[in-house]
Order: sequence, then structure tokens, then C-alpha cells
Amino acid sequence: MISLHGVGREYPAGEGTVAVLADIDLDVRAGEFVAIMGASGSGKSTLMNILGCLDRPSSGAYRFKGRSTAELDPDELAELRREHFGFIFQRYHLLSELSAVGNTEIPAIYAGTPGAVRQERAAALLTRLGLADRIAHRPGQLSGGQQQRVSIARALMNGADVVLADEPTGALDRRSGEEVLKILAELNAEGHTVILVTHDAQVARRARRIVVISDGRIVSDEPNPAESGEDGPAGASLGTGPGPTPPSVGRLRAFVARFEESFHMAILAMLAHRMRTFLTMLGIVIGISSVVAMVALGEGSRQKVLSNISSLGTNTLEIFPGKDFGDVRSARIKTLVLADAEALARETWVAGVTPTVSTSSTLRYGAIEASAQVNGVGPDYFEVKATKLKTGRFFDAGAARAMSQEIVIDENSAKTLFPDPSESPIGKVILVGKVPCTIIGVTQKQQGFGASGNLSVFLAYTTVQVRFLGDTSLRSILLRVADTVDTTLAEQAATAFLIRRHGTKDFFVLNTDDIRQTITATTTTLALLIAAIAVISLVVGGIGVMNIMLVSVSERVKEIGVRMAVGARRSDILRQFLTEAVLVCLIGGVLGVAVALAAGFVFALLGSTFVFVYSATTILAAFGCSTLIGVVFGWLPAHGAARLDPVAALARD
Ligand code: ADP
Ligand code: MG
Repeated sequence: MISLHGVGREYPAGEGTVAVLADIDLDVRAGEFVAIMGASGSGKSTLMNILGCLDRPSSGAYRFKGRSTAELDPDELAELRREHFGFIFQRYHLLSELSAVGNTEIPAIYAGTPGAVRQERAAALLTRLGLADRIAHRPGQLSGGQQQRVSIARALMNGADVVLADEPTGALDRRSGEEVLKILAELNAEGHTVILVTHDAQVARRARRIVVISDGRIVSDEPNPAESGEDGPAGASLGTGPGPTPPSVGRLRAFVARFEESFHMAILAMLAHRMRTFLTMLGIVIGISSVVAMVALGEGSRQKVLSNISSLGTNTLEIFPGKDFGDVRSARIKTLVLADAEALARETWVAGVTPTVSTSSTLRYGAIEASAQVNGVGPDYFEVKATKLKTGRFFDAGAARAMSQEIVIDENSAKTLFPDPSESPIGKVILVGKVPCTIIGVTQKQQGFGASGNLSVFLAYTTVQVRFLGDTSLRSILLRVADTVDTTLAEQAATAFLIRRHGTKDFFVLNTDDIRQTITATTTTLALLIAAIAVISLVVGGIGVMNIMLVSVSERVKEIGVRMAVGARRSDILRQFLTEAVLVCLIGGVLGVAVALAAGFVFALLGSTFVFVYSATTILAAFGCSTLIGVVFGWLPAHGAARLDPVAALARD
């Protein structure tokens, strides 16, 4: 079964190497009970690690069941350990956070045995080893002898053709040691090949063949004269005979089982260090909640700003005389006239034109007086400006021709002149300056940019020109661009058109779309800025996760060694730690989203002007993001764990 030929093992020491094993030739047949005996430091454990495929020889050949182990990759070696070997260590090497059953079933998890079968077999093994009433105990609640019996049960879990025991009685009192040796003899009687490593001749006497090794060389290899051969099982048979591992399930089920194991281990690890896990998670919670809240806030203010802009009217150009606002000459420039507006109205890209003039005057109704801005506008004005009526109607094209004295007042004026809410302004006659006008409509208060505390009233522009200004020049021409035409092109066309008419550029054009674009660009910049800050906070959180995972791995090097010894693949170890990292991040992500939603809720409750607009996409992205952080920042530590050398890991304290 086992065949070593010329096997050596060297360790690097200083400049050169030191040979711990040299030229070992050893054959073990199936069913043998061999003791490897030697002084401390003679190389027994090194030899046993090679026999158990935990370690590789530096030279020579090791064939197991005729198969050369030199060509096997780490996962194939893990498979050999899983399927054929059972390790019993001097210090038991049980996982402290798992119960006796939990420890016993680990090898079967990596072998893909279904959960129910696994637990039943583990419980049966523990019962037969006299631990029926200790099944749910943790290692810390068991005596040394009991712990060693749990580790024997674990070794037998997958069948164990070969049981490898390295000083199994070394840490035990005489009686417990006796029990363990009896169990080993029984196992051998049932057909398991047993290789027992010891420095104690008394212990070695229990075997049927004794190999003595000294300074890394075999000095004698003889059958044990003291061994009667019939010292076999006196008590109940363990009935665990070696053989193929219990039937394993389909690949998918096995994968799910291993995944469940990682999940279980991750939860245990997180619970074992609650405070640490919580603080690490906090980094992710802060990162995710700030991303979600910032994006929601950004979207909320963007929507608010855009709805404000749309109150300015969209697709509109407003043409003023002069170079810019505040041009002192603009009052003297009389070139912007009605004819310009009428000419512009004939252009194909223009959907509507309204001239505007304005002045200020006093409104009088009964005893109440107030000064107001008097706007002379065309009938299209209200549509272009997207003004809405509160009550009544707007004046029509006929009003301009007739210089009618119908007036539309805004909500501010209505409130000032008609403080009694039961009194309807419609149909009332007010004095504007000295001109009596009949109120036909009240406009709604404008939201956003148009809003102010000013009082404004609207008359036909002809009325204002003739009755108030005595002048036919215009304050501005307000122009709605056809929907199909780009406002920037329209602005250029309008500029070119008027320069041709005036012979000079004595006007300027205000493009409301420009304002929208500027504000949109500003909010986009802000959103990018917020996103950058959020990403930075997530990266900081991720580094926290990486840091804590490195700690977690280095704390559990021994556990990793044990898992590898019982047959965990590298991918199993990788997955275990990656799962832990992802779980920390994902839970952090869920809490982060909850915090962000709560923030929006609280702000809304407090009646704040901040509006949070959450989107499902952001929330999904937040979960995706936290998973990604877990994978990215958990990978390095998990990868490091998976690449540990099993022997070195087991030797770590
Ligand atoms: P034992 O017979 O007591 O089980 P070991 O096989 O553990 O002896 O060790 C044999 C020798 O190999 C010892 O002298 C030990 O110092 C040396 N040795 C074991 N492991 C290493 C290692 N990883 N690096 C260097 N030397 C080692
Ligand atoms: Mg040793």
C-alpha cells in the first residue's frame, strides 16, 4: 500500500540545507500495525507528514497504492488525504468553536457527503468511542482523552484506509492513553492500516512491527516479538472498517454542502468576534449609506432644480435691447420694435412671439394702494412663460388690437388688493395709475426662479405702450422656438436675423435652455464629486475589511492546517474566507441601505427642504458594490490562506 524508496527531506538552514530524513526505504502493506519509534527530533513527524501526503519528500519516491505522489497537485494530495488517511495528532487539533459532532463531520463535508448521512455517521462513531453523551460538547468542555477520541472519530469519518497517529498518547494520562491505544488496536483488527509514531517504547510495543529511526535514518525494522497478535478487540467492535468513503452526492449538492459549510464557518467566525466584525461592518455601512443617501439627495435636488427651470418656460429666447442687462443705454435704444416681433413671427423656426413692455405704476382698489410692475404682453405670453391661471381667463389677440383695458393680475396683487378671501377679484375694476381696468384673471404664483414678492399685473402691450409709455419701443421680445429646432441654432438664427434688420448688434439674447444646461452641468459635476467621495469612503471601508480578514486568517492558521489535513481543497479554504469577507460587506450593505432610507424618512418627517429620491438601481448597485468590495478586498487574505503549507500551518501556535 505504502512504498517509500530513498526518501529524503531537507529543510533550508542558513546558507545550505539540513537533512532531517535521509534515504528512507519503507514498505507498509494494507492491514499492518506499524510503530515508528525514535528519540525526539529524530524525524518521526516529518516522516509521518510525508506518509500522510501533508508534505512532499525532497528526494526519493513515494508510491501510494501504486500511484506516484510526486506528480500530484495540491488538490489531488488533498483528495488522497480526504479519501485514504485519517490523522490523529498529539494535541488533537480540534476546532474549538465546533461541537464534537461538528468536528467529526468536517472530512465528510469536504468529501461531499450529504448532511443527514454525515451527522448520523459522526454521531455513530462518537457513540462507539464512548462519547454518546458528549456529542454536542465543545472541545473546551471535554477532557484530553475525550478530545483525542473525538479526533479519532474525525480520522475515521471518511473510512481511513490508513490511520496515522503522531504521539496520540503524548498529552494524555496513562489511563486515557491506554484507551486510545486499545482503540487503535481494535481499528487495526477491523482492517485499518495503523501507523503509530511514538518516542515511547512501551507504546510502540502495542504494534506488530516496530520501525526505529534515529537522526533521520531507519536503524531497525522488525516484527514486534512481544505482540501476541491476538490482543484484538475485547469490547464492542467499532464496525468502522476501512473502505471507500460513504456514497457522495452529485457535484451540485456537494458544492452546495461545501458552500453551506463556508457560510456556517463565516457566521461562527463573525459571532466569535462580534465587536471586531461590527466595527469593520461600520466602515461599509457608512460607505454604502453615504453613497445611497448622496445619490438620492443629488437626484432629489436635480429634479427640484429642473422643475424650477421649467417654470421659466422651455425652448424660449428672450431678446433685449442693449449689450447686456444693466446696459445704461438700453433705455435709449428704441430699435427693438413691434415690426421686429412681427417679422420674427414669420420665420419657420419660431412657434410663437410675444412682445413685452413694462413700467411700474400704482394699483388702487377702494382704500387700498400698492405699487406694482405693469407688464404689457401679447396673448401668447402666458403660454410661452408656462403661466397658469388660478381663476378667470387670459386676454386674447383681440385685446391687443383693441387696446383693451382687461387686466390679469398675479396672486400677490390679488392678496394685497382683496385681503378678504371671500371677495372674488374677477370682474372688479381697479385703477392702474389713472387707467381703470377690469380684472379678468388671476395667475398662480410661480414656483422657483419666477417667484418673488413683487406685485405684477398684465395688460395687452398696446394698452401699456399707448396709455402708460407713449412710446412704441419694446422692453423685450419673447420667442418660443419650434419644438423640432435646437434652441442654440435658433439663438444664432435670431441674432443673425436681427443684425440684418438693425444693421448692428444693439440687442442681446437670453436663452432659457442655456440656463437649464448650465444648471444640469453643475448638478452633474456635483453628482460626480459626491460619487467620488462616496467611492473613496467605500475603498476605505474595503481596506478595513481586508485588514480584518488578514487578522482573521492569521488567527486561524492552525484551523486552516487542520482543515487541509482532513482534506480541504485550496478552493475550500479560499471560499471560506471569501464568504466571510463578502458576508461582512453584504450585511454592511443591507444596514447601509437601511440607514440611508431612514435618513430620507427622518428628513421628510422634519419637513426639511431636502428631497431624497431613491431608485431601485442605486440600491441594487449598493448591494452589488458591497459584494464586490468583499470579493476584491477579501481575495488577498483568502488567497494567502488557501496557499498556506499544511505542515507549517499545523505547526503554528
Ligand atoms: P520528531 O521525531 O520529534 O517528530 P520532527 O520530525 O518533528 O522530529 O523533526 C525532525 C527535525 O527536523 C528536528 O530537528 C526539527 O528541528 C527539524 N525540523 C522539523 N520541521 C522543520 C522545519 N519546518 N524547518 C526546519 N527544520 C525542521
Ligand atoms: Mg514529532
